[in-house]
Amino acid sequence: MNSVVKELAQTELFRDTPESILQMVMEHATPLELSAGEVLLAPNRDNQHVYLLLSGVLGVHFDSLDSPEIRQLTKGISVGEMSIIDGTAPSAYVVAKEACRVFPIHRELMHQLVADTNPVARNLLRLLTQWMKANTQRIVKDRLQIWELTDHANVDALSGLYNRRWLDNAFSRLLEQASKGAQPLCILLIDVDHFKKYNDTFGHLGGDQALIALGEVLKTSVRPYDFATRYGGEEFLVILPNTNREQCLVVAERIRQSIEKKSITSANGEPMPGITISVGLSMNNAQSTPQSLIADADEQLYRAKAAGRNCVRYCDQGDR
Ligand code: GH3
Ligand code: MG
Ligand code: MG
Repeated sequence: MNSVVKELAQTELFRDTPESILQMVMEHATPLELSAGEVLLAPNRDNQHVYLLLSGVLGVHFDSLDSPEIRQLTKGISVGEMSIIDGTAPSAYVVAKEACRVFPIHRELMHQLVADTNPVARNLLRLLTQWMKANTQRIVKDRLQIWELTDHANVDALSGLYNRRWLDNAFSRLLEQASKGAQPLCILLIDVDHFKKYNDTFGHLGGDQALIALGEVLKTSVRPYDFATRYGGEEFLVILPNTNREQCLVVAERIRQSIEKKSITSANGEPMPGITISVGLSMNNAQSTPQSLIADADEQLYRAKAAGRNCVRYCDQGDR
């Protein structure tokens, strides 16, 4: 067997293909030598061939040659099938990562092989499926990355809770859902007591440790379908969907007591005094907006501060 025919027989495209066909293919072209860095396919270049990789390694890049490599092709694999089939320019860049030898098959010969040779048609389908799988995996990975980035943009780095940006997007949606279902929804506006003094005494970093501790308490005190957010500075806002005033009061009290008991340590592990919080509670009615709910809770928070701090206040003239 001629040495090129032998090499062709080892490629994926020609798996189980009769030697007479390989002989015929071999007579149509000669292998091309590529040096490292040479571009074989590019989206802006028309392509008339499928290339079988006889030796070396090819890299595939989507957006540009500098973009991350999405796939590596090794001996026996082919490239260019898709552009041959749909007659469009390649969808990616294919570049030699080292010296390579490729065997070109012109599109006309390729179409003839698919029409006349069952194994080639079958192999081509398998190769195309591999491309589709690689592309799908790529899309899924990209999606996950986007999701992760968006999620980080919604989380406050210090407390680990949702941030103001998240709240601005989500609050009206949650409130709308509650109104549609005629369900109660409560919020808690939480403010650390005498926090300026805490900062003055233990430094800003000491204050940060207290806010981290408060974040931990909030995360563990609310149910999975409640939302704890850092509203700004030393103020926090918890949204409790499907919760009436009485149920919410229980949660608020639990949070208040947990933070009172929570021990706080400095960044280098030394114990620091605990903190207390004041809490204002408000509940929705048919006219509520995020702004009106926050304003109501803020009024109650002010009352809690005036009453001596470290307590929960709520409006008991609600219209529900
Ligand atoms: P009150 O009991 O009335 O709430 O008194 P307060 O001292 O807590 O209230 P004030 O609004 O005067 O002070 C809030 C302090 O919170 C001032 C500000 O420096 C501090 N603060 C806000 N954000 C942060 C933060 O991210 N880290 C730290 N360490 N301090 C913060
Ligand atoms: Mg404040
Ligand atoms: Mg405060």
